[in-house]
Amino acid sequence: CGIVGLVGKKEVKVKDIVNGLQKLEYRGYDSAGIAFSQNNHIELIKTTGKIANLRKELNREIENDISIGIAHTRWATHGGVTDLNAHPHTDCTGKIALVHNGIIENFQELRKELIEKGHKFKSETDTEVIAHLVEEYYEGNLFEAVLKTIKRLEGAYAIGVIHTDEKRIVSVRKGSPLVVAYNEDYAVLASDITPIIKYTKDVYFMNDNEMAVLEPGKIEFYNINGEKIEKKSVHIDWDE
Ligand code: GLU
Repeated sequence: CGIVGLVGKKEVKVKDIVNGLQKLEYRGYDSAGIAFSQNNHIELIKTTGKIANLRKELNREIENDISIGIAHTRWATHGGVTDLNAHPHTDCTGKIALVHNGIIENFQELRKELIEKGHKFKSETDTEVIAHLVEEYYEGNLFEAVLKTIKRLEGAYAIGVIHTDEKRIVSVRKGSPLVVAYNEDYAVLASDITPIIKYTKDVYFMNDNEMAVLEPGKIEFYNINGEKIEKKSVHIDWDE
């Protein structure tokens, strides 16, 4: 029931992302997981139960230096509470990973269509169709692929998507909360501001049908027609 994503010019450690996820624990969840890009492939660690279990699974990898990662706490809606159903979810190539909060209502039709096209599913979730759709539409530009993908989705979502060949996170909001922000060296996304204020106190609250492309030191905003939009940041007067 929470998502976090972090991309950095400077070092990002796996534990930075897990610590961010921990701040969302209060929202309730049954499983947790993380994906990060390393040596040109996606490393995927996910497990049922507490974030403490995820830390145990990660073991020494928690200290790894990565430059980009996404993480999730799940409140299962479609598919049982299992390690395989925990997020992040990946496509068939293993180059795309995504986290999703919400429900994809037309996932059954999409799943059938994708299976007919040869996609192999690894989970029972509604979410996994998104990863395969992004794969289907990917032609070297993750933003364009996600733009095409969301046109096919019915339901509610806050998503964060990464591809091993690109150092950016593409995120979209429709019906589930999403906040993004950046400073000189990082860009970060989360379901609420608690994992973000460590990096900056100037945050952007995403509205429905808005997309954000996060790169270290910058975020670009778009509507779902792919047109650039301007957004104003909100200054949060809190300490961590
Ligand atoms: N519908 C998705 C699932 O069951 C996401 C649930 C959530 O928002 O945590 O896996």
